Parts: sequence; structure tokens; C-alpha cells
Amino acid sequence: MQVVMAQKAGFCMGVRRAVQIALRAAGEAPPPVYTYGPLIHNAQALMLLETLNVYPLKGIPTQGQGTIIIRAHGIPPQEKEALKKAGFHVIDGTCPRVLRVQALARRYSRQGFHVIIVGDPEHAEVKGLLGYAGDKGLVISSPQEIDSLPPLQKYVILSQTTQDTVLYTKIVQELLRRFPGGKVYNTICNATHERQKEVRRLCKLCEAIVVVGGKNSANTKRLAQIAQQEGREVFLVETAHDLPLKRLQKFKRVGVTAGASTPNWVINQVIRTLENLPSPYEPGWKRWLRKLLRFCFESNLALGLGIFVLTLSNLVLMGLPSKIYYPLMASCFCFGAHTLNRLMDIKSLRLNDPFRAQFLEKYRPFLLGLSLLSYLITLFMAWTYARSAFGLVVFLTLITIIYSLPFFSKKQASRARWFPGVRSLFIALAWMSFSTLVPWISENHPQSPYVLMAFSFLIAFIRAVFLEILEVQGDGFVGKETLPVFVGEKKTFQILYVAIGLLALVIVWGIRMITLLFIPVYCLLLLNLYRKRLLGQSLLLEGLTEALPITTGIAIVRKAFIYKHSTQG
Ligand code: SF4
Repeated sequence: MQVVMAQKAGFCMGVRRAVQIALRAAGEAPPPVYTYGPLIHNAQALMLLETLNVYPLKGIPTQGQGTIIIRAHGIPPQEKEALKKAGFHVIDGTCPRVLRVQALARRYSRQGFHVIIVGDPEHAEVKGLLGYAGDKGLVISSPQEIDSLPPLQKYVILSQTTQDTVLYTKIVQELLRRFPGGKVYNTICNATHERQKEVRRLCKLCEAIVVVGGKNSANTKRLAQIAQQEGREVFLVETAHDLPLKRLQKFKRVGVTAGASTPNWVINQVIRTLENLPSPYEPGWKRWLRKLLRFCFESNLALGLGIFVLTLSNLVLMGLPSKIYYPLMASCFCFGAHTLNRLMDIKSLRLNDPFRAQFLEKYRPFLLGLSLLSYLITLFMAWTYARSAFGLVVFLTLITIIYSLPFFSKKQASRARWFPGVRSLFIALAWMSFSTLVPWISENHPQSPYVLMAFSFLIAFIRAVFLEILEVQGDGFVGKETLPVFVGEKKTFQILYVAIGLLALVIVWGIRMITLLFIPVYCLLLLNLYRKRLLGQSLLLEGLTEALPITTGIAIVRKAFIYKHSTQG
């Protein structure tokens, strides 16, 4: 089955911001930490927040203590005041776009205007807006309800931010026809508008649409309604477990979209489940290829191959192509370290990639043994072939084992607070050491290693950080301190752009192989594919990321051999 992912789906800016505020407050704000009502309309995310000791609070007690976070929808000003009076430290997570509508409601009601809010009177955002409009506020949700309004002269029309654009326009036209002279603000949020536009586009491409989101989420339900109006079969699911797999199997192409409060990892689980669904339309060879690729990623074989080829290419540039034990050593080490780390950190993987988590849990004893065996082989090879770098190999082995063990991971997590990005930096340093430093020290190579060190470091860093971006929401919810969780997705992208720029400089001024500039271009394309959600978070995107070191290595080896043959000729 072909799965087409909506380019705009999942957390909108306001929800992402509120979630980040809550995750930060869980570790930093005065405890206990509450959210005023459920933070987002997603049961799984709320359960995870509870594991971080962030609980929803219903109603306002006369006396309270700790911190309370106001949700992205906002609340009436009277309730905000009451929370402060009760003794809570209030953190306002209201979306800036909702704040703007609240400000309009307050301004016009103070000027004596009636404030007509087009939206669902039961929705938290509308209740909050009514609080700002005071006794001048009126809510309608359909053109028929205009009949219930009093005669209007001086009035302003505002909309709930998640209102359907078509319906809003219809209501506004009817209101102006009956009561001319009203002021109109289209306060429908862009995020909502874009998601609705996108679902209409998906309907043109796909036979069925899966909408992922909370069943009580207004914008999720609206996306499902739109797809239905467009004549598509719609499946509204909260998680991958709700997917009616048998009914979905008959479709060749299925579109996936999600409400603004659906975390990425919930969407990913749905996409992975659909991708894994055997389809009568998929040719056998394609199914096997997909399974093979999946096995390579899940078992870390792709990663082992990546560091192998990268080390080999460095050896070629150092003029040592026959020393094949260095790439083997690098592969064994990275396979062992990454597998051990994944096995010890299964919690976040259960969210981000449940199939990989299942694979690891199923073969846990075997993979644990294999990981330790890989470490032993690495040490044996280092002792036999790289005695002068043996100390460095032992040091890296011990560090990765200590880093992965659960006893140390808690301490490391707290230390990571003052040293963000420690995980990705460490992965990059380990890759750099095995692909460049170990052979350089062992062979007592005369050529300076700095250019190749920088090159390998940057490739490994870009790969590691990009993979962390793919898992940022799941990692954040389980309290894993990766670079994107710590500094946010936007800043992580800026860091990646700087790293890609540096990579281009190293290629031009260090390695002096202009044709290798395709590598930074490849990285930029990868980032763009993700940002524009052209591939969603599919197996293909992960495959392209893992292919980065492999493609890089193959290109260098190929170039070196062409050069050698041309000079021999
Ligand atoms: S849908 Fe728009 S207004 Fe509502 S929370 Fe998201 S970004 Fe803010």
C-alpha cells in the first residue's frame, strides 16, 4: 500500500509550544506541576505527561500550591486570576494566536461592540474568548443560529481559531446581509486552514483518508468531516491500534493526516503500521525489499555498513586501502555500542518506532550477547592490529557501556542539562575516532589527520542529529535529553545548517574534491524533505539518512580509484 502523508499534520505551533512549556516545567518549575484541564486532546500523550508528574487539574481549588500551566486554547481572565489567588505559580501556555483573538474580544467589548464568536460554545477556546468579551459575547456555530441573535448594530465577528473556513465565510455573509455594517476579523489560524487545504489535496490523490487524533479534538473531527465531504472513505483513529486493517487492505493508496494536537510519534506509529500492511497490489519483490530494508535498520546492520564504508574511504584517502581490519573494527564497535544503547533505552523507542522496539524486545538476549561479542571482537582486533591506539579503544568501549547502563543514564540525563547535545556529540566523536584516529595513531601516519577527523565528525554528527529530530517528540515525552529536545527543533535545524556549511568548507579547502559537494547538497535535500514532510517519517526517509555515510564513502572510494587509474594510465 502506498501511504501519502499530509505535508501539514500533527502539532501546530501553539500546541508544540504548550507541550514544550509543560515538559520544561516538569523538570524546572516548583512542584507539583499541573495543567489546567488536559494539555492536549490526546490520551497517550497525557498518560506520558503523568509519568513525568504533570497532572491535569479539574476546577480551581480555594488554595493550591505548585505550578499550573494554561493550555494552548487559553482560559477566561477571571479563571486566570482565580488560579493566581489560589496560590499557584501560573505559566501561560496560551497560543499567541489565541491571545490575539482574546485581545480583539476584550478591545471591542470595551468599546461597546457585540462580539459574535463563530465556533463551538462547548470548546475551551470559545469559553475563554467569552470571558474576554464579557456580557457582550455571543456564540453561534451555524447560519441557522443567526435567528437566535438579538438585532445587531455595532458588532464584530471573530472565529474560533479552528473553525472551517468555508462555513465561517458562509456565516459571515449571512450575518452581514441581515445586519449590515459589522466588523469582520478572520481569526482562523493558518495552521488550521493549511491542514484543511491539505486534506482536500490528499483526497484528490488517495482512495481513503486516515485522520489521526483525539476523538474529542475539534480540529481533528473537522478534518475527517472535510474528507467525508470530498467523498473519501474516512478512518478517524486515536492510535495505530484503532486502524481497521482488514478494511484498509483493499486500498491502493491511503492518505494520512492528523489533528493539531496529535504527537508525531502517534502519527509515525500509524504510518509504520500502514506501511507494514500486506497489500494485494504490492509486487512480491517490493514487499521483500521493504522487509529487508526494515531488518537492516532494526538490526543496526545499515549503521554498521555506514561506518564501514566511511572508514574505508578515509583509509583510501590516507593511502591505506588494504587495511580492511580498521573498517571491520569500526563496524563492530558501532554496532555493539548502538545496539546496547537501544536495548537499554527501549522506552523512547516504543513511542518512536514500535516495530523496532518489538524487534529488539523479541531478540533481546541474542542482541545483547551479539553486542557484547562485538565489543570483545573490537578489543581483540585493536590489541592485534592497533596496539598503539588500544588505550583509546578501551576508553571508548568503557564510556559507551557506562553511558548505556540504566544506573548511569539517570545521572547522565541530569548532566546533559548543562551540556546539551552530549549524545549526538559523543556518537560523532566515536565515529570520528574509529574512522580516522585509530588508523592514524596505529599506522603512525605522516599526514595530518585533522581534515579527515573534521569530515567524519561532521558526517556522523549530521546523521545522528537528524535522526534525533525524527524522534524529538517521543524523546521529549519520555524525558530523553537529546539536542532537539533541549534546544528545540528550530535551533537544531540552524545547528545542522551550520554543520552542513562547515562540511562544504572541509570538502572544498581540506579534501579538495569539489565533486564531493554533492554530500552537503544531499544533506540539505534530506532536511528539506523532512521540513516539507514530502516523505512523512517513512522508512524511505530513514533509509536516506542511513545512506548518507554509505553514499559518502562509496563516492570517495570511487573517486580515488578513478584518479588512481587515470594517473596509472
Ligand atoms: S491551531 Fe493555531 S491558534 Fe490554535 S493552538 Fe494551534 S497555532 Fe494556536
